[in-house]
Amino acid sequence: MALINENYTKLPGSYLFSDIARKVNEFKAAHPDANIIRLGIGDVTKPLAPAVIDALHKAVDDMADASTFRGYGPEQGYDFLVNTIVDNDYKAYGLDIAADEVFVSDGSKSDTGNIGDILGLDNVVAITDPVYPVYVDTNVMAGRSGELLPNGKWSNIVYLPCTEENDFVPALPTEKVDIVYLCYPNNPTGTTLTKDQLKVWVDYALKNKALILFDSAYEAFITEDNVPHSIYEIEGAKEVAIEFRSFSKTAGFTGTRCAYTVVPKALMGYTKSGEKVSLNKLWNRRHTTKFNGVPYIIQRAAEACYSVEGKKQVKATIDYYLNNTKIIRDGLLSQGFKVYGGVNSPYIWVKTPKEMTSWQFFDYLLAELNIVGTPGVGFGPSGEGYLRLTGFGTLDNTKEAVSRLKKISI
Ligand code: PLP
Repeated sequence: MALINENYTKLPGSYLFSDIARKVNEFKAAHPDANIIRLGIGDVTKPLAPAVIDALHKAVDDMADASTFRGYGPEQGYDFLVNTIVDNDYKAYGLDIAADEVFVSDGSKSDTGNIGDILGLDNVVAITDPVYPVYVDTNVMAGRSGELLPNGKWSNIVYLPCTEENDFVPALPTEKVDIVYLCYPNNPTGTTLTKDQLKVWVDYALKNKALILFDSAYEAFITEDNVPHSIYEIEGAKEVAIEFRSFSKTAGFTGTRCAYTVVPKALMGYTKSGEKVSLNKLWNRRHTTKFNGVPYIIQRAAEACYSVEGKKQVKATIDYYLNNTKIIRDGLLSQGFKVYGGVNSPYIWVKTPKEMTSWQFFDYLLAELNIVGTPGVGFGPSGEGYLRLTGFGTLDNTKEAVSRLKKISI
């Protein structure tokens, strides 16, 4: 008899985006002529940069010739990509990250989900709330979450509320915490931490031997100087933090799949008896055992994001999304909405008007303006009363959505 991992049975059945899709489909069926604008799901819409496409074509040709063909590559990534990452994302910022601290992968979703493989089940996990749901669900699957309570929280997870009351800056936990997930710029709130605010967390982790899992999937959207691009800009962070970066939002690789994770060699975990163990060694063991590398073709495409042309083109696309985001943000502000994020991020976090719940506001926008957002409560209990909009649409749709928003008064 094959026993299952019963933790999976604890996960609530439906997924936020399938609920949204169902509601939108029902609305479409009832109103076939409605011109629905989707400002909800966090996927990109612009094609890959020309420099990336050129690199892909060339890499395909490499695969057609026995002298340049590649089979299995190093699981951690080819040197050409790893060294390019180290030079451009770290050395260029004066940060000392070594090639063997970088692990190329097929995505930050996989990496933030899989990192738990090398971490004990007795760790107390803290998450900011609202949060990217993968951090919570993968801890439920592993058995670290306890039970789901009627208030929508898991009994063994420590929630760090991020709301307008604390300006979306999580307070340090009052109970003992071993692992903290931080995502900045944040999905879903679009807010950031300054260097000083992030330092508070690094100092906390150093003092408490805690581990920070720092997801910087939206690093490329940072526009302000005092917002750190990497957690390693904070002194001591190499002793306490793993950093996740992705080409998905940076360069439109959501369907192409490439990311990387930095696990510094100075970073230690502990056995129950208090013995130090290198997390870099553990992650290397896990990665080389359970993963067989990102395709050569895709790694060449990722490398091309860093060429002179590639950088220019990738930045132009980011600027396009940031411009959309600004149009939405300014439009909402001029309508009197309370709006957060959207300056260093493609995400705008809107406070629902008139005490509406997240889903009530979602339904209202869909029915009255044919605009699809993402209900904030889908990202955690503290997301109730908010809705997420994104700048990932087209400029035309964004402008049209804002002109529709002008029709409502709050
Ligand atoms: N981390 C955050 C915070 C995200 O919002 C997303 C995607 O939406 C990811 C990770 C997933 O990244 P990837 O496409 O590299 O798996």
